[in-house]
Amino acid sequence: MNPIRYERRRYTTGQTPIEKLERLSQALGGPTISIKRDDQLGLTVGGNKTRKLEYLVADALKQGADTLITCGAVQSNHCRLTLAAAVRDGLKCQLVLTEPATGYEPQASGNHLLFHLLGAEKIEVIPADGDMQPVMEKLAQELASEGRKAYLIPVGGSNEIGTLGYMACAEEIEQQAWETGTPYDYVVTASGSAGTQAGLVAGFLARHSSTQVIGVNVSRDRTTQEAKVLDLLRSTAEMIGLQSEIGAELISCEDRYVGPGYAIPTEEMVEAVKLVAQTEGILLDPVYTGKAMAGLIGMIREGRFAKEDHVLFLHTGGSPALYTVPELFIPKES
Ligand SMILES: *Cc1c(COP(=O)(O)O)cnc(C)c1O
Repeated sequence: MNPIRYERRRYTTGQTPIEKLERLSQALGGPTISIKRDDQLGLTVGGNKTRKLEYLVADALKQGADTLITCGAVQSNHCRLTLAAAVRDGLKCQLVLTEPATGYEPQASGNHLLFHLLGAEKIEVIPADGDMQPVMEKLAQELASEGRKAYLIPVGGSNEIGTLGYMACAEEIEQQAWETGTPYDYVVTASGSAGTQAGLVAGFLARHSSTQVIGVNVSRDRTTQEAKVLDLLRSTAEMIGLQSEIGAELISCEDRYVGPGYAIPTEEMVEAVKLVAQTEGILLDPVYTGKAMAGLIGMIREGRFAKEDHVLFLHTGGSPALYTVPELFIPKES
């Protein structure tokens, strides 16, 4: 097993910090909670997609691509960061976006504003239930007919190459645990397109670490998400020749904090975002980390962890979406 053999761009200087959340830990009265600040990764506003893109863009450059094409929601952090990586490496970038349930708003703020500011070459909006892959392929063919070369990146950057970014993160966490003498019993992360969770599990496995990864779902039910993570873990392990037994027991997903659906706010999310802001001054986001933290808080309250446990919460980024939902956080005047 050697992901080091894969080429990697570098978008972050050094490691992201791990900070102890003393006030939050005290407020919850459970295990010791620390946070890995992947919201401080490099590229515009940071977040977990930066790590995946280090490997994906290296692969694109190796293949001689001049344009990145990817897809996602109108508030996709992944689209923002793919575009930022393209800017950094002198590539063009085209985006395929799915229309939100409330309709596409051409003036939408948050990440959508940044798509324009960072200079997306093309933005194509398709119906909410549309299939993004054929649209990306059509754009790639159009570029090919002009003598250009596109590199397609799937939703969330979650294929085997992108997943290497979170194997590397597990390695980084192990090094930091070693330096500070604090091994982590659990890492808790939001789980969406699954590359983050699958990569962390692969990385800890490769290191023979006993750290367990708990994914908090942001869209799917438990069975579906666990199968998705396991599939990606297996195909990544196969790609790199990881010689380990890979069973379903490595994957643990929690689906009770999704609420009515992807990106739909829940009370628990609002409580979690406020609590972390007001105890630690750290901004979470309403779509991923807010629900993941709601999951961590809920699991603590139901006694899932021992008081002596060390839990590392992975801050995967996403704060631009916060500014699209002021009504959730500003008290209404009576
Ligand atoms: C994409 C994303 C996630 C989910 O990571 P996956 O690898 O897709 O499971 C979590 N948090 C934020 C802020 C994201 O943008």
